[in-house]
Amino acid sequence: MPELPEVETVVRMIRPDLVTRTIVSARFLIPRQLKPQTVAAVRRKIIRQRIIDVSRQGKYILIQLERDLLLIHLRMTGRMFVRDSKSTDLPYERAFFELDNQQTLVFRDPRTLGTISVYNSGEDIPPLKKLGLDPLTEVMTLESLRGKLLRRSIAIKPLLLNQSIWAGIGNIYASEILWEAGIHPEKSANQLSRPQLERLIRAVPLVLGRALKKGGSTLRDFMSPDGKRGAYQKEFRVYDCKDEPCPRCDAPIQQTVQAQRSTYFCKRCQRRR
Ligand SMILES: [Zn+2]
Repeated sequence: MPELPEVETVVRMIRPDLVTRTIVSARFLIPRQLKPQTVAAVRRKIIRQRIIDVSRQGKYILIQLERDLLLIHLRMTGRMFVRDSKSTDLPYERAFFELDNQQTLVFRDPRTLGTISVYNSGEDIPPLKKLGLDPLTEVMTLESLRGKLLRRSIAIKPLLLNQSIWAGIGNIYASEILWEAGIHPEKSANQLSRPQLERLIRAVPLVLGRALKKGGSTLRDFMSPDGKRGAYQKEFRVYDCKDEPCPRCDAPIQQTVQAQRSTYFCKRCQRRR
């Protein structure tokens, strides 16, 4: 599933092809992906609008139009890329935004869990309002993190996944970040010591920035818009490394399950107490 580094990779690659172009037509093959909006309503809104900017918030892609905002979430298997409008549709291509230069922005999504929605500019956008800080562009202070965790007695790892502290961390990078910070994934969020909080604040942008430099991670099907696979999966410290030696201390990496998701950690470097 694309997390922050993968979504940022997509945004950086498609932005130059989209900014200043006008959407001349649009097709959506899976109406459910637009819910609660209808295909007709979305088409009516976006057609003939110029694209002003393409950006990211958490794992959302924001395509800012003259009057409206297109909000796209890739979920499990979504991909976006720009190609010649004359090319024939390929399997799994679900949505098409044709531009005024014979190029088309394509949304490919085998499992069709991705979502596309349109909001008026300036309107409140509920999914974005719930997001925590962006790890690449905003700085978390110790006081602010402490305040956010004060009443959270749940384990730190599932809390990192709920997007309310930092936005953009998914299951892979949560394990990598906690290993980097030397924090046990099952430790209650409000029990973290001051040094642990400080290490967490450093580890979040460090790990995500490192992954972004490698074009993200490809486990099964993530590909950047130019068809390249990410390379960061070769540098995982703990994720998917069960029984392999910890890169820091050589102890075998452990695997456990938290909230139905796999967690990887080193029990020597990430002590419970
Ligand atoms: Zn270790």
